Amino acid sequence: MEHHSVIIIGAGPAGLSTALALCQSGAKDVVVLERETQAGGIPRHCGHKGFAPYKNFGLMTGPNLASLLREQTTGLDIRTSTTVLEFTLRGSLRVHSTQGITEISADKIVLAAGTRETSRAARLIGGNKLKGVMNTGELQQRVYLGGEHPFRRPVIVGSEWVSYSTLLTCRHLHAKPVMLLAEDGENAAPSYFSFGARLLGTKVVRGAKLIAIRGNSAVEAIEIERFGKQQTVECDAVVLTGKFRSEDALYSNGYLERNGYAPAVTDGFKTSKPNVYAVGNVLGHLETAGLCMAQGRELAKVLFP
Ligand SMILES: Cc1cc2nc3c(=O)[nH]c(=O)nc-3n(C[C@H](O)[C@H](O)[C@H](O)COP(=O)(O)OP(=O)(O)OC[C@H]3O[C@@H](n4cnc5c(N)ncnc54)[C@H](O)[C@@H]3O)c2cc1C
Repeated sequence: MEHHSVIIIGAGPAGLSTALALCQSGAKDVVVLERETQAGGIPRHCGHKGFAPYKNFGLMTGPNLASLLREQTTGLDIRTSTTVLEFTLRGSLRVHSTQGITEISADKIVLAAGTRETSRAARLIGGNKLKGVMNTGELQQRVYLGGEHPFRRPVIVGSEWVSYSTLLTCRHLHAKPVMLLAEDGENAAPSYFSFGARLLGTKVVRGAKLIAIRGNSAVEAIEIERFGKQQTVECDAVVLTGKFRSEDALYSNGYLERNGYAPAVTDGFKTSKPNVYAVGNVLGHLETAGLCMAQGRELAKVLFP
């Protein structure tokens, strides 16, 4: 079986920064596995500004940050179109790539698989299954990678900072959101974000809940409940944003112990398996890309002191 010193699962900001810092410290035989055709993670399809290679928000666009990361990691062993399917019982990885399905093992494995937004089904929203209901990830991929114009008058649902980033995507599309339905929830963005939304001309509606999505072949309206009263709002799409959860497909079978929606880790990013580490947004929170990169550099010091 192919064996390596370190395997990193995921070539987003966290995984690539871990790989780069490891190689800069002299570590050898580090391999990064990425299921997409190109490395860079989520920033590849966040066409708006707000990214930086340091911890806070910055002025780079996501694609610019992704290409900077790709440039910095040129020459490293980064295998794209390569999906890790599972951890086997003996701790190796089953992997699908153009070579078919193979098994590969490592002394140390880093899980840097990122997050995903809670689906419509898990949000318990009623109504019909219709074209025009999407999450932020799908929207940004369709717009920035696919060049699509999926709507003109959407309703944005959510109150996290990523909900407001969706408004920037709408601006890029010259679409006019009917409202931002700032449902109460965890991780709400600071209140000045809603001031920014109003500056962009979007009405922010608080204290409401999306009950159902209506339409025949496409979205025509939503039903919301606000202060005990139901109301119908016409729109042509619904973007369900936020409520990020760790990408748990590789450990939802109990391979790693969990802490709520994420793998349980100690200070040194160690999971419940002695040779498996977790870093970046897979830890369950949507952090800035720069913070995930800083975590990657910290983890490299743990792996290769
Ligand atoms: C809509 C949106 C807007 C954002 N805006 C900003 C912003 O303005 N500024 C900012 O700093 N941050 C922003 N962020 C956050 C930033 O994108 C993330 O913090 C950062 O991408 C997290 O890096 P990561 O490496 O942990 O995960 P990701 O970027 O998600 O990378 C994880 C990688 O792992 C791969 N992967 C997953 N599972 C497997 C598997 N089984 N096998 C192989 N590969 C796998 C994925 O394909 C992906 O490439 C935004 C995020 C979103 C969703």
